[in-house]
Amino acid sequence: MITIGILDLQGDVKEHQIITDKSLQELNVDGKTKLVNTLDDIQDCDGLIISGGESSTIGMHLEKTGLDQYLKDTKIPILGTCAGFVLLSNKISKDQPLLGFIDMTVERNGFGRQRMSFETDITFMNQPYNGIFIRAPYASNIGENVEVLSKYDEKVIAVKQNQYIAVAFHPELTEDTLIHRKFIKEVIRCVE
Ligand code: GLN
Repeated sequence: MITIGILDLQGDVKEHQIITDKSLQELNVDGKTKLVNTLDDIQDCDGLIISGGESSTIGMHLEKTGLDQYLKDTKIPILGTCAGFVLLSNKISKDQPLLGFIDMTVERNGFGRQRMSFETDITFMNQPYNGIFIRAPYASNIGENVEVLSKYDEKVIAVKQNQYIAVAFHPELTEDTLIHRKFIKEVIRCVE
């Protein structure tokens, strides 16, 4: 039995929970999802999803609650989407708290502002995928241990390093469970 936590602060928390539950079912995995706000909440989680929102605000919340230190100590797998992509990085031009698990430099709002949000066909690990970009970041520089899972317009938009997966777009807003399934498999690999 695995438990996937979903950080319950901002963004598409409910949508992430729905698509994670659906992915668990599709994979026939004995697992459940749980909303996480505090250190207490996260204790029984085997992995955590950090959704979109404002990465600076989410970062401050992680610091204030001690969740950042917990994640650094336990090293449980994390799926970061959009603002979560930013938080998983270790370099950014602005001064803001980062978890720093993925060796990459991130450009926030790299595709423009809210009104320049778009939806487009991309490939994710060589499979067709519908990417929804809302003030999405991208990685302008990645370390040699970072695996690139997707690029769009020459820009790196999905990466994996060890047990950390970061995507710049919003997989929770599609029907396609590809990315959540990949994350669940990573969580299972880590608990085994
Ligand atoms: N631009 C936001 C940030 O960097 C992320 C936007 C989003 O999560 N939709 O915090």
